[in-house]
Amino acid sequence: MARFPSTTPGFENRNGQRVIASTGFASETFPGQTVYRMRCVHCGHEYGSNGYDIHLRRCPGHQDGVRGERLREAGPGLFGAMGD
Ligand SMILES: [Zn+2]
Repeated sequence: MARFPSTTPGFENRNGQRVIASTGFASETFPGQTVYRMRCVHCGHEYGSNGYDIHLRRCPGHQDGVRGERLREAGPGLFGAMGD
């Protein structure tokens, strides 16, 4: 299969699941893949997906899709929480 550029921000699959951005974090379920922030254009639900699954993703909120990858924020505090 050809490698379809479904990881490009703005890409929207047939289920209305749109790529917002790469989180920069490695997938926890699919070695070698990166987790992307996805948003359902129907209900606005946001979740994480590895790049390989983007093209067939369904919304975990209203399309009975799987919950997806843990969505972590790539903020300035990459070295963890300060204090509690
Ligand atoms: Zn949805």
